Amino acid sequence: ATRLANPATAALRAYDPGHDLPALRQRFGVTIAELGSNENALGPSPRALEAMRAALAESYRYPDPRGAALKAALSAQLGVDTGRIALGNGSHELLMLLAQCFADPAHSVVFSQYGFAVFPIATAAAGAQPIRVPALPREHASAPFGHDLDALAQAVREDTRLVYLANPNNPTGTWFGDAALAAFLARVPREVLVVVDEAYHEFADAPGLGTALQLAGSHPNLIVTRTFSKAHALAGLRVGYLVADPSVVAVVERLRESFNLNNVALAGAEAALADREHLQRSRALNASERGWLVAELARRGYVCLPSQTNFVLVDLGRDAGELERHLFERGVIVRPMGGYGLPQTLRISVGSRDENERLLSALP
Ligand code: PMP
Repeated sequence: ATRLANPATAALRAYDPGHDLPALRQRFGVTIAELGSNENALGPSPRALEAMRAALAESYRYPDPRGAALKAALSAQLGVDTGRIALGNGSHELLMLLAQCFADPAHSVVFSQYGFAVFPIATAAAGAQPIRVPALPREHASAPFGHDLDALAQAVREDTRLVYLANPNNPTGTWFGDAALAAFLARVPREVLVVVDEAYHEFADAPGLGTALQLAGSHPNLIVTRTFSKAHALAGLRVGYLVADPSVVAVVERLRESFNLNNVALAGAEAALADREHLQRSRALNASERGWLVAELARRGYVCLPSQTNFVLVDLGRDAGELERHLFERGVIVRPMGGYGLPQTLRISVGSRDENERLLSALP
């Protein structure tokens, strides 16, 4: 029998990476509408594609293990020193690495009940104790099922090393404002590292919601993670980054795999970052399609919770499994959230107009 070296993994629900897309394409042909993984229907910047093609010719060599060009581009755009940036094979890798770097079985890690699924996995991989803090109630006016920052601050114990927050959060789509984060940081001891996962940051435009980055300089315990998977539409490329105090970055750099980003990814991300117009198109398209989709769903009696992301959480008020299967049989892929403990909800990514229409016409 297999002996688990780390007993925490036995109790863990595996990260659900979604459906086997190639198999589904074979079954449904081109008619499949993949609205289950919060990808970006616009697709990547043409300049990124061009840079990736050029980089292919160099792929017989190892990539730059420092990712110097991408870090320099990020540094210029974000206004932070390169020594405050670490790159990851997707932000998923960075979220995992942070727990491995800074938490061990003597420590606890705090996160919200419906926080991003990788938080408990990263905690278990480090063998640390998870502290899962009850979310805000469904009835909360602006953030149903969202992060309860008061309760999260209260949950921090003497042995807590890390807090994971996502802003906006997946799967709830909820967010908290910069002032609320500043108040939270003021309540948490400086020895506790606070990770703010901003995977959906570029889509967010709610008043009072900027970025945790502006607090990073004054809070050495604050770590901000971002990704090229969402607004930059490069999920397949696997590029994420974090901004943190240089002392935190130094530890992550020591533990990560030397060549965690391949040369095509480094080149594509750098070019994507330079194409500000494409990013703007991506944000505008998402905002308008999300608004349209939410309105069309509402007309059909489906309630979407408020979202600052490229997906919506639909609250059915009854078990969502049947509707998910109904849509699946019609080649429309959406994500049931039972695994998160939200069995009455479906998470639906904002697709192209064509995909969104396919979803609407497949509804019973
Ligand atoms: N954080 C959140 C909140 C996410 O939803 C995701 C992707 N589903 C990630 C991080 C990880 O994204 P990636 O590894 O593609 O950067």
